Amino acid sequence: MTRSSHSPRGNFWRRTPLWQKILAGLVLGVLVGALMGESASVFKPIGDIFISAIKMLIVPLVFSTLVVGITAMRDPQKMGRIGARTIALYLITTAFAISIGLLASWIFQPGVGLELSFEAGAEAKEAPSLVEIIVGLVPQNPVSALASGNILQIIVFAIGLGISLTLIGERGEPAVRVFDSFAEAMYKLTGIVMAFAPFGVFGLIAHVAGSYGLEVLLPLAKVIAVAYLASILHVLVVYSGMLALIGKLNPLRYLQGILDALVVAYSSASSSGTLPVSIRCAQKNLGVSEGVSGFVLPVGATINMDGTAIYQGVVAVFIAQLLGVDLSLMDYGMIIVTGTLASIGTAGVPGAGLVMLSIVMAQIGLPLEAIAVIAGIDRILDMARTSVNVAGDLMVTTLVGKSEGELDESIYNAPRKS
Ligand code: ASP
Repeated sequence: MTRSSHSPRGNFWRRTPLWQKILAGLVLGVLVGALMGESASVFKPIGDIFISAIKMLIVPLVFSTLVVGITAMRDPQKMGRIGARTIALYLITTAFAISIGLLASWIFQPGVGLELSFEAGAEAKEAPSLVEIIVGLVPQNPVSALASGNILQIIVFAIGLGISLTLIGERGEPAVRVFDSFAEAMYKLTGIVMAFAPFGVFGLIAHVAGSYGLEVLLPLAKVIAVAYLASILHVLVVYSGMLALIGKLNPLRYLQGILDALVVAYSSASSSGTLPVSIRCAQKNLGVSEGVSGFVLPVGATINMDGTAIYQGVVAVFIAQLLGVDLSLMDYGMIIVTGTLASIGTAGVPGAGLVMLSIVMAQIGLPLEAIAVIAGIDRILDMARTSVNVAGDLMVTTLVGKSEGELDESIYNAPRKS
């Protein structure tokens, strides 16, 4: 292909970095949605195709990345340490998150002086017990775990396979090479799907922006603003602070590096669905190794939901204020504990946090029906909490990578080009 065969427009499209194109898709989507209203839904199928295409990548990408990553690490002790650090960091950041949510609602009082009625009922969910979670980790049949997309079971099988391939030495090498080349192909495919992201994001956002009129949003504007503010603060203060203080890393590079994942999370409201994009951001922009990103990110997309925890803190206090219920210090403590557990049990799919909110509400004796007040605008809150969920996974991945010498700082510190 000669240079002269490119049209000037084609050149412009190619020269513009992907993150700028994705952001442009987001902004254009909001504008078109605001102008066209509900008829902006005609663009939704474009978004749906994009989401299906990324979801298509999740299972093969996670599986091959993790097998390759584990075989490259070759040190069982190191794997144990990575696991322990990951879980500890996930728990700490979640406890911070829910506290920030509580504090924000306590300071700004979004529910005070508001009169809203509700009728529809909501069912209380139960948090899964620890034993249930642990027993459920081991797949009876790895093929069915792969087929149903059970990420935690896939991780367990991939780790087992990776360790065994290492243990059999030379005889494992042909299989490792197959997985290696398969993983490379999956990275390539992720890149191809991501080239479509600006259009997909546009379609998703146009639909959302078009379907929420101001009359639904305005009465709840204050609680939306408080949830967004708490989310932004959590990312800018807690995540950036941890990266700077513990990791001695420049947080700005992290924020630039995770932008694609943030926008896809925001427009799709699914942290599981965003997983392939997060893995790509972690490896390509932040310089985290395959082994660490292939383990820490899928675990995070399943159990680490800081944005959901913030949301539960904000909304529980909001509803108590709305109903004129005074919360005791004990109640706040209760919200932190159950909110953390509920966020761990939340699936990385749209709307899951709303269902899990019932656990927190039931704990502190608030009527579950009150959830209906925010159900109508939940998608708007979901978009913000999903972005924080994904940002949190990427922050922990970066810190774990750094602490294990699995972070290539020349990639992390390089100015972002694409
Ligand atoms: N949608 C969120 C996610 O995928 C979960 C939630 O609803 O809180 O991360």
